[in-house]
Amino acid sequence: MIVPITLYSDDILRQKAVPLEGIDSGVRDLIGNMLETMYNAPGIGLAAPQAGSALRLLVLDISCMKEYAHVKPMVVINPVVLSSRGYLAMEEGCLSIPGVQGDVVRPAVITLRYRNEEYAEETMEFSGMLARVLQHEIDHLDGRLFVDRLQKRDRRKVQKQLDAIASGSFAASYPVAEISSSGYAANG
Ligand SMILES: [Zn+2]
Repeated sequence: MIVPITLYSDDILRQKAVPLEGIDSGVRDLIGNMLETMYNAPGIGLAAPQAGSALRLLVLDISCMKEYAHVKPMVVINPVVLSSRGYLAMEEGCLSIPGVQGDVVRPAVITLRYRNEEYAEETMEFSGMLARVLQHEIDHLDGRLFVDRLQKRDRRKVQKQLDAIASGSFAASYPVAEISSSGYAANG
């Protein structure tokens, strides 16, 4: 099932997502929905808060990019970055922030401990586009967006677009959620 993607200024994108304690049929459904929603958009990564669930879960598939055609889709649960090295600036965008792009500096290589779609623990090193997408999506689980990491000047350049999205004025070619700002306030 394709689910509406939550948008910039929605409180769920600012919450710290909660770890999963296992995989049940509800989580399996959510993973299926997230993959379908990501492919429909289309996007190369999606974090659960973007699908309306504040859980530490993300999916990605970068195989649409020529040099990564062999890379299998990934389901990543409860990720923890154990170490990182190097720095790299790359342009990013986000399905929750339609039409906005900007250069973000992040570590080039990360070592990640996480649980896979079988809830089995894995520890692996990632570089290149995988490291980039993983870090972007892990940010979502901590309530952080790529626009928070833009240089001040770049952030100023996109501020009008961000304000427009917050006020409901944007163009997206995929279903989006109505912006909700009540849940977070209720939780303090
Ligand atoms: Zn994003």
